[in-house]
Amino acid sequence: MAVVDKTDKTERLRAQLDALLHHAHENQKKLERFEAIEFKLMAAESVADLLRIIGHDYTELFKLDACSLLLEDSDLSLRRLLPESLLESAEYNFLTLLNFPVELEKLHYMSSVICTGVYHSNRHRWLMDKPDIASIAVLPLIRRGKKIGVFCCGSRDKNRFKAHAASDFLQRLSFIMAVCVENALNLERLKQSSFTDPLTQVRNRRFFDQRLPEELNRRDRAKSSISCIFLDIDHFKSVNDNHGHGVGDDVLRQVAQRVQGVLRTHDVLARYGGEEFAVLLPDTGNEEAMMAAQRIINAVNRSRIVIDKKVILTITISAGVSTIDCEQCFEDIQELGLKLLASADQALYDAKETGRNRAINAGLLALTSSVDRQDRTRQN
Ligand code: GH3
Ligand code: MG
Ligand code: MG
Repeated sequence: MAVVDKTDKTERLRAQLDALLHHAHENQKKLERFEAIEFKLMAAESVADLLRIIGHDYTELFKLDACSLLLEDSDLSLRRLLPESLLESAEYNFLTLLNFPVELEKLHYMSSVICTGVYHSNRHRWLMDKPDIASIAVLPLIRRGKKIGVFCCGSRDKNRFKAHAASDFLQRLSFIMAVCVENALNLERLKQSSFTDPLTQVRNRRFFDQRLPEELNRRDRAKSSISCIFLDIDHFKSVNDNHGHGVGDDVLRQVAQRVQGVLRTHDVLARYGGEEFAVLLPDTGNEEAMMAAQRIINAVNRSRIVIDKKVILTITISAGVSTIDCEQCFEDIQELGLKLLASADQALYDAKETGRNRAINAGLLALTSSVDRQDRTRQN
């Protein structure tokens, strides 16, 4: 009898040990998956990259049926910061920027600890609008005591996220995710501010000069046209002289807004210096570019500029337009960019000479294609 008891006890102990080992093994695998995603989050190269890791890699690795990321955006700064193409892309539809007071209030008053349990449509819809989800884990993202957002994991399995079952893994992940999101956004803000003119809030010359060869290369591959408009406010010195620099600054801001207002989203407007602006119009032929220049001129001179309800000014602007046609080719992209700008600048000079408040067309860039050039070199 005593022998049977001993065998039973040994069996039970062995079973318990096996169960413990299995549990430890499962936890080890889980830890490895969490570590893998944490390393990815920390190595993300941009906000878009980071968001893709959160929304896709994480969902895939942990076999989730849905996930959502909501970020606090009360001042709409994230809406301006993130590229429109990202915000509109179906690939990023797990992302919501919270800016309505009612949403911000919900974020503010939601629990600061991770909550897991059954998905209740009424309670959770604002976090994740997926009626087929059965259980949910809600991870608040907190930095310096403030909720910067919330990340939610959803599963069709009602036992996947049991009530009050937030693990240390989830706790650590929510902390790392909050740090990475905040860092990536700050880095993006820094990057953007180095490309933005602080006075007018349009792009600066550094951005334009960097973008120009990129767009020229793209044009080369796509075999499309590209145009450039150079702009210079007329008699701007007299605005400063007569009304002071403060008014001059306000005029610059308002003119930039008016110009931006008549451009397409993919056109690039930059303050090139002083009271000069440059516009790059990808996929735009010469006739279309002239029409755009005329739209700019009309937008600037159409109505008078009012500053502090006191100073009322009529401002005009002159423009020079140049285009590289889809048929034209030239190998040296840097040189091509310089030629495009110089040609638009010369046309702008002509606009000033012939009376201002007008656009002069330099037409298509006079290019000797690299092929022609080689031929000619050989002939000489
Ligand atoms: P034109 O029609 O020939 O272009 O004449 P203009 O007076 O506009 O040109 P000019 O080059 O003589 O003067 C440009 C002025 O722009 C001089 C400069 O003080 C002013 N300016 C440049 N940057 C700023 C700025 O950031 N703020 C203000 N208020 N003025 C600026
Ligand atoms: Mg000037
Ligand atoms: Mg001027």
